[in-house]
Amino acid sequence: AVLVELKNVAQRYGRGEKRFTAIEHINLTIREGEFVALLGPSGCGKSTLLRIITGLNRPSDGEVRYRGKSLNGVNPYATIVFQSFALFPWLTVEGNVTVAMRARGMPAEQARARAIELIDLVGLDGFEQAYPRELSGGMRQKVGIARALAANPELLCLDEPFSALDVLSAETLRGEVLELWTGGQLQIRAVLMVTHNIEEALFMADRIVVMDKGPGRIIAEVPVSLPHP
Ligand code: ADP
Ligand code: ADP
Repeated sequence: AVLVELKNVAQRYGRGEKRFTAIEHINLTIREGEFVALLGPSGCGKSTLLRIITGLNRPSDGEVRYRGKSLNGVNPYATIVFQSFALFPWLTVEGNVTVAMRARGMPAEQARARAIELIDLVGLDGFEQAYPRELSGGMRQKVGIARALAANPELLCLDEPFSALDVLSAETLRGEVLELWTGGQLQIRAVLMVTHNIEEALFMADRIVVMDKGPGRIIAEVPVSLPHP
């Protein structure tokens, strides 16, 4: 089944003299079961595309459909894991994972139980009461992933999830993300991952979507036929 469909999508930013086209003529389909990598130079609009698909940006032109329905506002079926972790420094690991569930009205005990499960799933059991500053980069990114998973997304969007990590931590976490994806314990139906690391894309994805800038467009879509671990 088709999850996401973008039809002739464009995003313009700024006003008056400063108005410019960040991306245009974007046509993209993501189906259930796919791990899609989005590759392209800095500034070509990869993050913008994720923001449009998750409903954080409303495109200036074109249409976004999710499971056949026009998307209006935030997409409840999709969440983003950001490159920079974006954790609340004053909250513990558990607090960071719980906060979005609480905001959506989930009772405290239920949110806490789910948070403990997810923290365990990403391999951080024992660190529930730790603060972000006490954790390594890799561990912080795992908290970011657990927090995104708390929303039970069907579409998990990852925005350069490993680029702030050293080489070894990144490699470990890549394997762990693939395990989450193939493990079948979650609701995730598709993954869309922004990267500018071609090897990472080849290693993880079923399909690579290549963008270029000036303004940002999709210039190629390439299926990956390498076996994934
Ligand atoms: P990428 O993720 O590929 O680096 P982005 O989507 O972040 O690209 O940015 C695409 C272009 O749009 C860049 O030129 C960037 O500076 C610009 N841009 C991104 N977000 C905004 C914004 N909120 N306001 C104005 N310009 C923006
Ligand atoms: P970074 O991404 O900052 O390089 P890592 O994620 O590789 O860091 O972890 C750095 C250190 O933190 C490791 O040497 C390890 O001892 C510790 N660490 C990471 N994850 C865990 C964990 N789940 N349990 C215990 N210690 C951990």
